Amino acid sequence: MNEFALIDLIQSTCALHRPDVRIGIGDDAAAIDVPEGHELLICTDTLVAGRHFPINTRAEDIGWKSLAVNLSDLAAMGGTPAFALLALCLPDSDETWVRAFARGFSELASMHNVALIGGDTTRGPLAVTVTALGFAPRGRALRRSGAQVGDTIVVTGALGAAAAGLHFLELRPECGRAYRLDPNRFDHQCVTALDRPAPQIAQGIALRDYASSAIDISDGLAADLGHVLRLSETGADIELGLLPGWQALSEVLSLEQATRLVLSGGDDYVVLATVPPNRLQEAELAVKSTGAVLTTIGHVSAEPGLRIRDPQGNLIHVDKAGWDHFA
Ligand code: ADP
Ligand code: MG
Repeated sequence: MNEFALIDLIQSTCALHRPDVRIGIGDDAAAIDVPEGHELLICTDTLVAGRHFPINTRAEDIGWKSLAVNLSDLAAMGGTPAFALLALCLPDSDETWVRAFARGFSELASMHNVALIGGDTTRGPLAVTVTALGFAPRGRALRRSGAQVGDTIVVTGALGAAAAGLHFLELRPECGRAYRLDPNRFDHQCVTALDRPAPQIAQGIALRDYASSAIDISDGLAADLGHVLRLSETGADIELGLLPGWQALSEVLSLEQATRLVLSGGDDYVVLATVPPNRLQEAELAVKSTGAVLTTIGHVSAEPGLRIRDPQGNLIHVDKAGWDHFA
């Protein structure tokens, strides 16, 4: 397949009609309408083979995840996704691989009504860059800054599962992707969390009316909460026992490892937000109406820094605060 046949294949697999796409794939640039009273949110993220996903990851899952990590960024801003661009760097023109990749991408795109409006296709080591675009009512997007002392810190889903999935894959490489066959097994669920993160779009929108700040957790709770605290010039106190996922992980892993995974494992793609205590109940109800549970994990404090206490009240040392590509 040549470059243009590959683009055709991607385009036909990801076909989704939106009336606000004025010019889509096929021209030198796309043109879109932005609804009255809204602003455009734009973000981009690259997945590099062997670094952001194991090299034996299925093409469908790479397609899904490359979009998911970007939709997660829009979710953290309280945005409604609308469009995506896809820059693919492929080692060869493998039709089967590209078809499967596009299927995974399209599966998630359809769930969120995201139209693929352009991209680029080049040859080189496998890497996928997606740019996602979405809308928020003007001036209403959630920011990392804005957390106030006394705010409750909440998350929209479990932590550590994806990192545990990676751990299970490394422990049992012979399983390969047979690791996804039994949805009742905890280790299989963790591998699914790694391969198929669910961007918290509805939850982000639900929080937009109540949260003082928000971020999506991609590099680990400690690192990403750290960004909120730095930009908000505050500190925080977190209770390990409240972190959703910690209990389940500590039943199958050592306490130390479960703790490390929930605090700094990464790849969680849940939204963390800070909510003033007098808005917490409304925020919980709004998130509940999306089918998710908002879990309180701690509060914002005046004293700078992040303190994490175990159920006995002892302070925990976080040695590696998340994941830094250049550390
Ligand atoms: P140009 O050379 O002007 O950059 P290309 O030949 O690279 O244009 O691309 C032709 C059209 O196909 C453009 O509209 C571009 O956005 C789209 N396109 C290229 N690669 C992809 C891709 N991987 N996914 C979606 N659209 C793509
Ligand atoms: Mg081009």
